[in-house]
Amino acid sequence: MSCPICGEQTAQRWRPFCSRRCADLDLARWLNGSYTLEPVEPGPDELPDNSPDPDPSRRH
Ligand SMILES: [Zn+2]
Repeated sequence: MSCPICGEQTAQRWRPFCSRRCADLDLARWLNGSYTLEPVEPGPDELPDNSPDPDPSRRH
């Protein structure tokens, strides 16, 4: 079995990776991949900053 990141031989401690570095890389890759699924741009439903305060009593 070899490391899916760099192809080196898998280390028992870091299975299925060869090292902590590759395990971290895979985790970062996974996180980045999941982040790209989230909408980055604000959608049309987003309220503008100058929208009226719904609760006037909290206004300073
Ligand atoms: Zn590796």
